[in-house]
Amino acid sequence: MSETKSPLLQVEDLVVRFPVGHGRVVHAVEGVTFDIPAGETLGLVGESGSGKSTTGFAILHRHQPTSGTLRFDGRDITHATGKELRALRRDMQIIFQDPYASLNARMKVGDIVAEPLIVHGLAKQGKELRERVGTLLEQCGLRAAAMTRYPNAFSGGERQRIAIARALALHPRLIVADEAVSALDVSIQAQIINLLADLQREQGLSYLFISHNLAVVRNLAHRVMIMYAGKVMELGPVEEIFERPRNPYTLALLSAAPVADPKIERRRERIVLRGEVPSVIAPPTGCRFNTR
Ligand code: ADP
Ligand code: MG
Repeated sequence: MSETKSPLLQVEDLVVRFPVGHGRVVHAVEGVTFDIPAGETLGLVGESGSGKSTTGFAILHRHQPTSGTLRFDGRDITHATGKELRALRRDMQIIFQDPYASLNARMKVGDIVAEPLIVHGLAKQGKELRERVGTLLEQCGLRAAAMTRYPNAFSGGERQRIAIARALALHPRLIVADEAVSALDVSIQAQIINLLADLQREQGLSYLFISHNLAVVRNLAHRVMIMYAGKVMELGPVEEIFERPRNPYTLALLSAAPVADPKIERRRERIVLRGEVPSVIAPPTGCRFNTR
């Protein structure tokens, strides 16, 4: 298969370190390389503290990379400022884990969804804006009338739909979903994942879909990247990661995930990783990389 166009997002040798005083430095992300083609989802999986959010935040320019290169649509955006950065803030959006905390409880849903359009000077208050907001809510499986209510009138899954509608307002091309379904019941998780998949098909969106749970990414991701202590352990097509994981850490993540079929559950041995979780202040050396 030949590649005819460059990926939407290219991350090359990304390093993000945080000085934490007394000369100590947290090595949150250490030399991470991946790309995301237009219209595809990369699932980013790893346990808490492995550097997933930091990777997402660096892409969104919420964290300054210590080194490495970020390219968007072929352009080097690593040091984007001013007008270029403002344009990027439209092209890339984020959805967070907690739809209770990420929506302003004192704002009506309509104002929450309209806010990015107003902030970027793309719309004025009025009928046209209300129609636009109504369409966004409907695209996300809510009724347009939701705009007149406050977030506390909605369930967790509905609030995440509101957060997605807000993220879509600026017609982004890349959405970073950081544990976006982790706080939801399993049945609601599936609904939100289906919504994200539908939106991807309709709008050609790319996702960086972050989760600590490998099983959650299976139905949405085209490729999966496993991170551990700031490094990439494994990166490959979703079927390969699930059917033929190469890295012992991926096997451990897979063995910890519940499976629906009890026959498989019986055949499977639970792998428990022993030893200390490595400190990212003094990261382990010689981690094996399996990139394909
Ligand atoms: P994950 O999202 O995989 O749980 P994070 O990217 O949030 O992991 O964090 C990776 C590591 O970087 C953790 O050890 C975390 O404590 C540390 N870290 C994240 N943000 C900061 C920060 N602003 N200052 C210092 N350390 C941070
Ligand atoms: Mg995180």
